[in-house]
Amino acid sequence: MVLHILLVGAGLSGAVIGRELAQQGHLVTVIDGRDHIAGNCHTERDRDTGVLVHRYGPHIFHTDDDGVWDYVNQFAEFMPYKNRVKTTAQDAVYSLPINLHTINQFFAKTLRPDEARAFLAAQGDSTITDPQSFEEQALRFVGRDLYEAFFEGYTIKQWGCSPRDLPAAILKRLPVRFNYDDNYFFHTHQGMPKDGYTPMIAAILDHENITVQLNTLFKPEDADGYDHLFWSGPLDGYFDYQLGRLGYRTLDFERFTEQGDYQGCAVMNYGDQDIPYTRITEHKHFSPWETHDSTVCYREFSRAADPDDIPYYPIRMVKEKSLLADYIGLAKTVEGVTFVGRLGTYRYLDMDVTIREALDTAAVFSENLAMGKSMPTFVTAPL
Ligand SMILES: Cc1cc2nc3c(=O)[nH]c(=O)nc-3n(C[C@H](O)[C@H](O)[C@H](O)COP(=O)(O)OP(=O)(O)OC[C@H]3O[C@@H](n4cnc5c(N)ncnc54)[C@H](O)[C@@H]3O)c2cc1C
Repeated sequence: MVLHILLVGAGLSGAVIGRELAQQGHLVTVIDGRDHIAGNCHTERDRDTGVLVHRYGPHIFHTDDDGVWDYVNQFAEFMPYKNRVKTTAQDAVYSLPINLHTINQFFAKTLRPDEARAFLAAQGDSTITDPQSFEEQALRFVGRDLYEAFFEGYTIKQWGCSPRDLPAAILKRLPVRFNYDDNYFFHTHQGMPKDGYTPMIAAILDHENITVQLNTLFKPEDADGYDHLFWSGPLDGYFDYQLGRLGYRTLDFERFTEQGDYQGCAVMNYGDQDIPYTRITEHKHFSPWETHDSTVCYREFSRAADPDDIPYYPIRMVKEKSLLADYIGLAKTVEGVTFVGRLGTYRYLDMDVTIREALDTAAVFSENLAMGKSMPTFVTAPL
């Protein structure tokens, strides 16, 4: 049976679900309010420098999921890329995540791994046995000096609140490596699509059964005539925010260009609270196989999202989770709509998880269709 499917959002969620359903033989329309595909993964050439820029913040592909890695490699050539982040804090530059080099530099020591382990254990606050907050957890793990240099100011800027008001669960494990490995991610597969994410997502959407309409904000009547709607926009947005707004952090990017190499790396964090931005990203270092004489950088500022801002990071504190539960209840009263992706389920999702969930969603759709069952409101529970 051929169905007519509407997908709201031409990001990774919409593209992957759309492709899978198109391959199952359904007729798919993907709409997006923006003037481009790829959602927040969108990449484009900078107008002045020709550098490939990640318009909505840097995106590095990393995964342990072999199926997802094989999937993306069908649609793009991936170049090896390791994310090596630096931070400027207290008038010095350090390597992140905190590793043996960071510890030795910070404390002016020459410790070997076991010595550093013992040294850091002594730095940690052993009087904190049952940490109740992010701050207590960090103090327990790394002690006050490292906490103040690497966690406190950055976290306040990123989340707009004291680490005392954030849950301890954010820092589940000791965030330190006792070797010189400064690769930000542990995943088996890490890389960057050579030409950027937008051509990759264009290739995913390139199927005879898929029609893409940009500059098209969803209106309820758009769903008329379709057999099913997949919604990857904001969950509260679908209901016109009738119960209130789910809280997000948004980002402001201050673009500037220079000649040559501005900071010598792709990502430089700023840990001190008196520097208002959280980091500077220098985009040509995300494509080290390209050569450019000039360079383009973004200073990144984080703040609470207003209604007209782009929602970036879901806040998901107690208040937001309670409102989310109300929206989940409301969503379950609606027939013929499945909420997907980072906005539709109000979760932070890395790209590989987004793709995995999109593939699973399309599989559930075909299984349910075969069994004559209706599609669930959520394939992955938001809470
Ligand atoms: C700053 C930042 C950095 C990140 N870095 C990484 C990284 O390094 N590695 C990684 O794996 N992941 C990263 N991610 C996560 C990545 O961005 C997500 O996994 C991915 O964007 C999720 O895709 P999506 O399709 O669910 O959502 P989106 O990309 O947000 O797409 C949703 C689309 O829906 C459209 N839309 C919304 N409402 C409507 C409407 N009413 N009508 C029409 N269209 C609508 C939007 O315009 C948007 O294009 C990062 C995320 C952020 C915020």
